[in-house]
Amino acid sequence: MLSDFDDVINKLNTNEVWDFPGGVHPPQQKQLSNQTPIAHLPVPARLFVPVKQHIGVEGHIIVEVGQHVLKGQALTKSMNPFAVPVHASTSGHIASIKPHVSAHPSGLDELTIEIESDQLDTWAPLKPLADYQNQPKMAVLSAICDSGISGMGGAGFPTHIKAAPKKNVEFLIINGIECEPYISSDDRLMREHAWQIRQGIDILNHLLNPKLVIIGIEDNKPEAIDAMRLACRENPLYRISVIPTKYPAGGEKQLIQMLTNREVPSGGLPMDVGVIMHNVGTCYAIADAIFSGKPLIHRVVTVTGQAVKQRGNYWTLIGTPIEHLLNISQFQSNKQKKPTVIMGGPMMGFTVSSQQVPVVKITNCILVPAKNELAGNNEQACIRCGACADVCPASLLPQQLLWHAKAKELDKVQEYNLFDCIECGACAFVCPSEIPLVHYYRIAKADVRIEQQEKQKSDKARERFETRAARLIADQEARDEKHRLAAEARKQAMSQTGNNATDRIAAALARAKEKKQAQLNDNTESGSEGTTQNNSLNASPPSSNNDRVQAAIARAKAKKLASANEDKPVEEQITPPEQASKNERVQAAIARAKAKKLASANEDKPVEEQITPPEQDSKNERVQAAIAKAKAKKLASANEDKPVEEQITPPEQDSKNERVQAAVAKAKAKKLASVSNSAQQIEEMVHTLTSEPEVISNASQVEVPEGDTRDDKQQRIATAVAKAKAKRSETKLADTRFDETKASESELASHHSASSASLKDDTQVLDAKKRKIAAAVAKAKAKKAAEQALKDEKQ
Ligand code: SF4
Ligand code: SF4
Repeated sequence: MLSDFDDVINKLNTNEVWDFPGGVHPPQQKQLSNQTPIAHLPVPARLFVPVKQHIGVEGHIIVEVGQHVLKGQALTKSMNPFAVPVHASTSGHIASIKPHVSAHPSGLDELTIEIESDQLDTWAPLKPLADYQNQPKMAVLSAICDSGISGMGGAGFPTHIKAAPKKNVEFLIINGIECEPYISSDDRLMREHAWQIRQGIDILNHLLNPKLVIIGIEDNKPEAIDAMRLACRENPLYRISVIPTKYPAGGEKQLIQMLTNREVPSGGLPMDVGVIMHNVGTCYAIADAIFSGKPLIHRVVTVTGQAVKQRGNYWTLIGTPIEHLLNISQFQSNKQKKPTVIMGGPMMGFTVSSQQVPVVKITNCILVPAKNELAGNNEQACIRCGACADVCPASLLPQQLLWHAKAKELDKVQEYNLFDCIECGACAFVCPSEIPLVHYYRIAKADVRIEQQEKQKSDKARERFETRAARLIADQEARDEKHRLAAEARKQAMSQTGNNATDRIAAALARAKEKKQAQLNDNTESGSEGTTQNNSLNASPPSSNNDRVQAAIARAKAKKLASANEDKPVEEQITPPEQASKNERVQAAIARAKAKKLASANEDKPVEEQITPPEQDSKNERVQAAIAKAKAKKLASANEDKPVEEQITPPEQDSKNERVQAAVAKAKAKKLASVSNSAQQIEEMVHTLTSEPEVISNASQVEVPEGDTRDDKQQRIATAVAKAKAKRSETKLADTRFDETKASESELASHHSASSASLKDDTQVLDAKKRKIAAAVAKAKAKKAAEQALKDEKQ
């Protein structure tokens, strides 16, 4: 439970404080260094400014090697609230930016900016903020941050963070205790610069606005107490509290407990109990930054110990090597058993590994003890006396911590609240076995921090791995989904393509059926509509309604044309249009050739001797010829097996002339029939040859494998050719019969010269017709061969 504010006031009014557990009273040895004013060191030839000198993160380096810098010029820039910049402690050139031995118990290297001094110590332009009370608090905080101020009491916490708490501050405690033996830097600072410290307190009071400002000073610094009382007497809000000397009264938690009777919880902060604490050296630096614009580039360092001759306090530039301090203070190495330089006091300090270790912002003392000046380092086994636990101000169990630290049982040391240890060294101070307990605690803390860092790295790596694995899985799933969708799309497209192919096949089959049916219908119609309509069948079968309409139109035109030409002579017949079929054109050409030939044959003959075209005989003549033919045939059949004398003579042909006329009529009828048959056969042959596409088309309707179509076509073409040849042979046979008829006619011609002349003419006509037919057949064959060659070339 927190103590009441009035209780604190009452306690302060009685000049009393509360106490903290444990604590020791080591020899002070402050008189070795606090008897002389703070001295100024000459500027060293080289300074080593670590980039990070505080708790937090390092700033961004804004200088480069070889660059000339001025005193107070920033070397780094704060890019983070927990980043505090560092500044050039003197003017000169940047000699290097590289790791350098650190001012840390580990002695590890850390990134350091080396400045080669030009010995001019030239200041950079300064930007003071003297009227800070009229400035926004943020501007004041920024000025403090830009000045590179961090806690100078030992922790190194960024001051601008502590000067801007998120909670109301009840007590602002200024730590002027300086409880560690040998160290007197704060003592001398308060004695000599109390007013500037008071200015720093004013700035903090302006920023924090606490209920009370308590300045705690140990009673072993009477001069400092007087100086601070004098400086703060004007402000009743500022209370000087004199603390009994007891180590470690200067510890943050211990001092808060002594002044407010409030205990900071384990792992907590002073703000948790309404307290903010700053060191007097920090107050001095804040005033320097705000009123003078000077960054934190120097501090007071106590150089003490019996191994140095010029002990005292020195204004020391940040980055000054310890070697420089030792040289100025006249280090006497012969007084030591082995070279030993301690950074800090004898309780909390550590032995540096090199004299090149630089002074940093939290360096308050360089202790160079002589032989046997400090407690021995003859470590022995723990005797479990428990003295360490009795003096521990944090109420820890140093003995258990030691065991677990040595055993590297890091979980155990944390269970025993290792991090509540303030490393005061009181336990080691009282240990009869001279065990450097703090040394083991520091190693254990470092191991824990390393383990935590490794764990953080491992956790981050695991998170990254898990994130990556999740991302890969998500990517894989996305790819799988994408592939699945693509496969479905392809499958759907293939299905549609298959359906289309099926549709096309079905359509082709339907067209083939329509074509076949149309051909059957046309063949049926051709029996009654004649050759012209047959020609229309030779046209390509309609594959669609339009095609069928076109075919119907073509058939109608052909029929109309045939009707128009029915009673006209051949030369007057209308030539079929271009749309007429090939067969129609061939038929028309044959008809025209026949008519031309007949006209040529009758050209010089008298009318009674002119040959009448068979197809153009008048109807009566054809009737009479048919009657005569029938009579002659009947008579020939009746007399076939009778002797000549018994043969019946036609009554109407009793006379010789009548018989001759009958014989001539019979011969004419027979000739006409023969010529008609021959012409019809030839026309059929030509029709077959020229209608090969139709034959092929009809053959294609046969359901055979698609790959065999061409062979079948060729086979059907060969069949058609053979058929044509056979018909031609039949034609030749008909010609032979005709020759026989002609012989018979010749026999009859002996009886009648006129009839002989007529037969001769007919024979010549037939010979010419045969040649013409042969030429037409040859022409058709050549045309068919050319078409076949063109098809083969396309395929
Ligand atoms: S004081 Fe030393 S010897 Fe005694 S218990 Fe602690 S560690 Fe062990
Ligand atoms: S355990 Fe830590 S806090 Fe306790 S006396 Fe030892 S050093 Fe000090």
